[in-house]
Amino acid sequence: MTPIDHDNQHGRQQLVDTLRTLVTKGLTSGTSGNVSMRTAAGMIITPTGIAPDQLLPEHIVAMTLDGQMGDDQLTPSSEWRMHADVYHHRPGLEAVVHCHSPYATILACAHKSIPALHYMIAASGSSEIPLATYATFGSQELSDANLEALSSSLACLLANHGQLATGFSLEGALKLAELVEELAHAYWGTLAIGGPELLAREQIDDVMVAFAEYGQQKKRPDLASGNRLNQ
Ligand code: 13P
Ligand code: ZN
Repeated sequence: MTPIDHDNQHGRQQLVDTLRTLVTKGLTSGTSGNVSMRTAAGMIITPTGIAPDQLLPEHIVAMTLDGQMGDDQLTPSSEWRMHADVYHHRPGLEAVVHCHSPYATILACAHKSIPALHYMIAASGSSEIPLATYATFGSQELSDANLEALSSSLACLLANHGQLATGFSLEGALKLAELVEELAHAYWGTLAIGGPELLAREQIDDVMVAFAEYGQQKKRPDLASGNRLNQ
């Protein structure tokens, strides 16, 4: 029988690993970015201002969705409201990854949302990665703008700031953050050569149907990584 993990050591280690993966994949640098996971009591989230290479599982902050936490804990990410509000208002979502990945940040600074230039945008659950309006980092206003943008997508750009991706698992949220960066890079590139030819809504709908079947290895299901819609 697996022992009950009261301290959520596994979840804490997953958050540390995810923040470090953001660095190795070039999606974040310095102390930018934060990641969280839903828990029975609320969420666990990375602390504010600690560089990924200094971060340890015991630094991860456990808190309720209204911001309560034990006195012995570190100060949570300045963006804790943005994470907590996702869990509060979107019951199906289990994880949030926020970063200042380079190309997503370029578009966010130019106030451009990402249109349907590539079929993989369907993995965001929508035909567009929307842009949330600008508000100061860590503010309730930013969290409100983020929630509004997420009403039509699993990910969004944050104006003059970066990107945020959600998921039905931490792995899913990380994959989506990576995809947002890939799409942002492609869009940025096409803008330099006259702009993209966009896919129609029906074409994106067809991709969503095709995704349901994609990537399955019926003889060796253990080998398949699954599709990127199925987070
Ligand atoms: P934290 O270090 O407080 O998580 O902030 C980083 C950040 O990206 C703010 O938007
Ligand atoms: Zn940020």
